[in-house]
Amino acid sequence: MKVAFFGAEGKVGTALVPMLRRAGHDVRPIEAGEEPDVRGLHAAVDFTTPSAAPENVRAALEQGVSCIVGTTGWDAQPLDALARERGLRLFVAPNFSLGAVLMMRFAEQAAQFFPRAEIVELHGDAKKDAPSGTAALTAKRIGGDPTIHSVRLPGLVAHQEVIFGGEGQVLTIRHDTTARESFGEGVLLALDRLDSLPAGLTVGLDALL
Ligand code: NAP
Repeated sequence: MKVAFFGAEGKVGTALVPMLRRAGHDVRPIEAGEEPDVRGLHAAVDFTTPSAAPENVRAALEQGVSCIVGTTGWDAQPLDALARERGLRLFVAPNFSLGAVLMMRFAEQAAQFFPRAEIVELHGDAKKDAPSGTAALTAKRIGGDPTIHSVRLPGLVAHQEVIFGGEGQVLTIRHDTTARESFGEGVLLALDRLDSLPAGLTVGLDALL
């Protein structure tokens, strides 16, 4: 598939572009300041910044190209109408790691049987926000307002445990991201399933699993 990649030189882009190429995709990197010319391509992937992503996505949709977006911290809803109008897909996932998405799904299932839970999320010390978006989303999905413990230390990448306590037993569901390549599987899945999605905005990898 011919794919544009906005943010190819970033931390995520550097890990993902070679993965997409190894999977057989023809990737056109597009950097900050470059004309977002994506005409004729099948899809555009965006891992940039919350200020750059809306313009990149709008430009791609206006050129008739569907988008897959991993950039966090912006609202894609206003672009839903444009995508629908053009019969294009706009797929946005706050977490492209299959394991993290499954961890949330399993935790949601376990919460039906274990009403008491706490979440421990652990990230490298460069991450300034706490709790992580994934921990907050997990808490929302399992319900019951679980306490979230945030750990920030050098040596960590991105890890989360959801610990359920019951009578005489403890169930722990844990996911570890050890490298940014973990997001690649989700992006490859999104590319594979893009044409089967309805026109307009779809949010979350769950929609593809
Ligand atoms: P990063 O290292 O800062 O990379 C962003 C890249 O985008 C930089 O190379 C930057 O170039 C480039 N860029 C900025 N404006 C651009 C534009 N208008 N057009 C094309 N490229 C542009 O950040 P990152 O760690 O790779 O993360 C990127 C985004 O993905 C963040 O929003 C992050 O939160 C998100 N993320 C999402 C997931 C997920 O699973 N959904 C996972 C990890 C990260 P310059 O440096 O030259 O400005």
